[in-house]
Amino acid sequence: MSEEKSLNFIEEIISQDLASGKYAQILTRFPPEPNGYLHIGHAKSICLNFGLSNHFGGGTNLRFDDTNPTTEETEYVESIKADLKWLGFNWVKECYASDYFDTLYGFAVQLIEKGLAYVDDSSPEEIALQKGTPTAAGTGNAYRNRSIAENLELFTNMKAGKYADGAKVLRAKIDLANPNMLLRDPILYRIKKAHHHRTGDTWCIYPMYDFAHGQSDAIEQITHSICTLEFIPHRALYDWGIENLGIYPSKQYEFSRLNITYTILSKRKLLQLVQEGHVASWDDPRMPTISGMRRRGYTPESIRDFCDRIGIAKRENIIDFSLLEFCVREHLNKIAQRRMVVTDPIKLVITNYEQGEEILQSENNPEDVDGGARAVPFSKELWIERGDFMEEPTKKYFRLAPGLMVRLKSAYIVKCESFEKDAAGVVQKVFVTYVPESKSGSDTSGIHVKGTLHWVSAQHAVPVVLNEYDRLFKVEDVDGAEGDFKDYLNEQSLTKTNAWAEPALVTDPLDARFQFIRKGYFYQDTTSAKGALVFNRTVTLKDAWAKEQKK
Ligand code: ATP
Ligand code: MG
Repeated sequence: MSEEKSLNFIEEIISQDLASGKYAQILTRFPPEPNGYLHIGHAKSICLNFGLSNHFGGGTNLRFDDTNPTTEETEYVESIKADLKWLGFNWVKECYASDYFDTLYGFAVQLIEKGLAYVDDSSPEEIALQKGTPTAAGTGNAYRNRSIAENLELFTNMKAGKYADGAKVLRAKIDLANPNMLLRDPILYRIKKAHHHRTGDTWCIYPMYDFAHGQSDAIEQITHSICTLEFIPHRALYDWGIENLGIYPSKQYEFSRLNITYTILSKRKLLQLVQEGHVASWDDPRMPTISGMRRRGYTPESIRDFCDRIGIAKRENIIDFSLLEFCVREHLNKIAQRRMVVTDPIKLVITNYEQGEEILQSENNPEDVDGGARAVPFSKELWIERGDFMEEPTKKYFRLAPGLMVRLKSAYIVKCESFEKDAAGVVQKVFVTYVPESKSGSDTSGIHVKGTLHWVSAQHAVPVVLNEYDRLFKVEDVDGAEGDFKDYLNEQSLTKTNAWAEPALVTDPLDARFQFIRKGYFYQDTTSAKGALVFNRTVTLKDAWAKEQKK
């Protein structure tokens, strides 16, 4: 968070709360439900919550909101922790809503004793009907008038497992005519005889979100509980619980969730993509999950930068996917090692190069003065890109064509003398002569050329596979599109290309970031192995995609 920026509305509130002495320091929380992997939308909430406590002093709890036993798994808990650490954030305490089940049960008993909760035997359909509509008050039922003693007994029986799933619920007794439908006697507890990832079979009743979230905040003494806009109507219930239980007065604040073009940000939908095989896994590099983005080659810095740039607002909007790409490109340009890789090769033969081979030095990163150089073998036969040669050059063509000169990156200037075609008329070899005194770094040739080509020495080249990714969806507003979101999947979201690479890639560290010159930014895939190197394209060098769309 840069100091010169004006404060967003949540920062304003916190500044005032600290200035007035309302709190000595703040405590926020990040409360994922462990029912899937974190996505870039969660990163916004993470950067906000951790960013606030880093900036103002205080801390952030990681709280697993694990009150729904049927969808939650330990695998997700582990992935969430790994993602948070990778993003660069440390939590004060690791908490679980399920650790509060005893306390929450006690809270429910307190409400019953105060005449503020009752056991209802109605079916979900009956409850829905009796709730009325936004314009007509609810009607209620006979269960609402049960005595405190009867409610206590029935609730005890619910906990003891005496009733089937759905046979009874515990409801708050608030106001069946309240304009806010959520206050029309909301359900606090339901029966669910399911195994919980942490509490096992200890419980067969589970608290609802509205009877767990605010209460957990209060138990942890969270000062500012920040959630997304759809929870605005829940705030009254949040406050009702705190007030009637007389617990720590945590406060809820809402900001707009992150939406990004050409993608979906919903764990439920992302899970469908995985389960139905539209992507390979949660960490498929096309996924907007933190683990997918990590595998694709995004850096934590670029994700934090993105979250910082989009800021915090109270109105829903949709952020352009290109901004995310812009952020990662900016960072990778500074740190990526430059390497040469040829994807569509033709042979370049240097007819006057008689020394067999030599080792040249090539700068790792022109943006980094301390980046150093690497050894690149050079020899008589090289691979260059087919697209860098033209039989009959067009005007302003600065690459290779008969009679034209180019520089081979970090090597020599060469002049195209002739070429050779196969029986099908396809160019197979391009013959050039080189200028010995034009060696990069000690060029005394006095020759100036406009084009510089990347290349790899044919005998030293190593085969690699490049995974080139495109948008996962074909339409900008996937959530807003009619019908099933999966109808809009882009079938061409992954292209695999075989390529020849310079040998440095074999010994480069696994986690190195690369710019394959003139191709894009790449990162070694988790499936990559010595002898079968695989690289994921993190992002193209330029925003070619936006241009493509405008055509
Ligand atoms: P999903 O619909 O993907 O499951 P969720 O909101 O149900 O998302 P939670 O695990 O409950 O997921 O979310 C943890 C925190 O992350 C919550 O505070 C939630 O508001 C926030 N969050 C989730 N999605 C977004 C988003 N797209 N933008 C900003 N914050 C988000
Ligand atoms: Mg949720």
